[in-house]
Amino acid sequence: MAGIYIHIPFCKQRCIYCDFYSTTSQEKENRYIEAVCTELELRKQSLPDPVHTIYIGGGTPSLLNPASVKQLKDCMDRNYRVMPDLEFTVEANPDDISPEWLEAMSRTGVNRISMGVQTFHDGHLKLLRRRHNSERAIQAVHLCQEHGFRNISIDLIYGLPEQTLEEWKTDVAQAIALNVQHLSAYALIYEENTALWRMREQNKVQEADEELSLSMFEYLITELKNNGFEHYEISNFGLPGFHSRHNSSYWNDTPYLGCGASAHSFIGMERMYNTANIDQYIKDITRYREENLPYNEVCHCEVLDRYEHYNDRIITGLRTATGLDLEKLEQDFGTELKNYCLKMAAPHLKENTLQITEENGHPQGVLKLSHRGLFLSDGIMSDLLWVD
Ligand code: SF4
Repeated sequence: MAGIYIHIPFCKQRCIYCDFYSTTSQEKENRYIEAVCTELELRKQSLPDPVHTIYIGGGTPSLLNPASVKQLKDCMDRNYRVMPDLEFTVEANPDDISPEWLEAMSRTGVNRISMGVQTFHDGHLKLLRRRHNSERAIQAVHLCQEHGFRNISIDLIYGLPEQTLEEWKTDVAQAIALNVQHLSAYALIYEENTALWRMREQNKVQEADEELSLSMFEYLITELKNNGFEHYEISNFGLPGFHSRHNSSYWNDTPYLGCGASAHSFIGMERMYNTANIDQYIKDITRYREENLPYNEVCHCEVLDRYEHYNDRIITGLRTATGLDLEKLEQDFGTELKNYCLKMAAPHLKENTLQITEENGHPQGVLKLSHRGLFLSDGIMSDLLWVD
């Protein structure tokens, strides 16, 4: 089982909180798509497993000419063993969704739309410098449904400047009312060097109170559970059968190939990523093809040692509702690291922020965050990490 991620680094305008790599000029779309196809072709040997998931993210993939999405899919079909039950996701901005776009995506085999809604309050959308308004987001979800999409995810953000708990409750209610199958919700992060970060430095916005953010998160969890959603990863909720298979592969060591500027790959014990610059990326891929170089000459590549891999496993394992299988941890990293994990987990087990659950097929039990631990997850995970 394997996944392919493709990064589309184009946005019409930059949202103030975003630190993903993208540019507002789309004139290089054709050359860029050509380069991604070349990368897909040249790296096909590195992903021997059949492809179960394709995820086109960004940036704003819904800005692409639909012919570009088809070009990418045709290239993957030619070069990879793509499974018939493929989960094929494209990220979209509500403003770009039209009947024509949806029909084109459907014809290309896209069967999952992930929409960046963020909030249903126009004042907050404006502050974040999103292109759409609330009404447009609601219409966009309805349009997807009318065009036969039965696997729709929306992203929401909480802890926005001056957002009240009441506003958040209406965001959650609106999301539920839309009958989407999946929801991702993130606390607003003030990433360094973003416009939002600078606004906070200049006292133009104030960070939400931590208690308020926790109340929002708690409300979200309760409300979504009451409406049939499974909380399967800290920030992700899906109706039964609608967990994101692609994102789950990031959390369970499934190999994935990332193509395009700034895209990351994880295969075997190697983590690789491309440069975050379109021009340099196109140059790198041209050299890769023309000079017949090994891929690690044109990307950043690090081979994880046992301790780094253990740290990755701790973070990804504890993020998920499946948790960390202690027997597997011992098999993969040895008794020393498993005991280290249990030693560092002991205070949290005592405080009931972590728990070890007994489950069939897991003789040593499964280490998981408790409900209380979900709200303290960053600190708990970092306590369990190996530090040299
Ligand atoms: S949040 Fe999405 S649309 Fe906004 S700048 Fe970032 S990638 Fe572009």
